[in-house]
Amino acid sequence: MNQEQQTITDEAFDQLVTKAMNELPQEYIKGLDNVAIVYADWPDEHQAKKAELKPGNLLLGLYEGIPLTQRGSGYTYVLPDKITLFKVPIQMVSKDDEALAEQVKRTLWHEIAHYYGLNHSRIDHLEGHADHVEH
Ligand SMILES: [Zn+2]
Repeated sequence: MNQEQQTITDEAFDQLVTKAMNELPQEYIKGLDNVAIVYADWPDEHQAKKAELKPGNLLLGLYEGIPLTQRGSGYTYVLPDKITLFKVPIQMVSKDDEALAEQVKRTLWHEIAHYYGLNHSRIDHLEGHADHVEH
């Protein structure tokens, strides 16, 4: 992303999220229960801390909540899980519109995997990109 480039509008980003949702395996999308998918320009301090973000690293997405595998019979009246996609960092690691759409999908998929209880040793992490992470 060069300096003159505008941060993607919420409307355009929304469309990318919708597109990604349509393209990801539908059995996993349909299984999402009590999960809010939101986006922000940047992670806030709390979210960066939660992701154990190192200085200089970009956080692309964050899953916060109680994974499906940990929801027992007591799981009721609980605040929704939250998947947050961070617009500016995602845009920064994407060289063009096509890459941006792909990255949104990839980050969303990573966060959905967390919802299904997969941990990092089992999630296919971004290889060769030590400067940006998803949690
Ligand atoms: Zn993760």
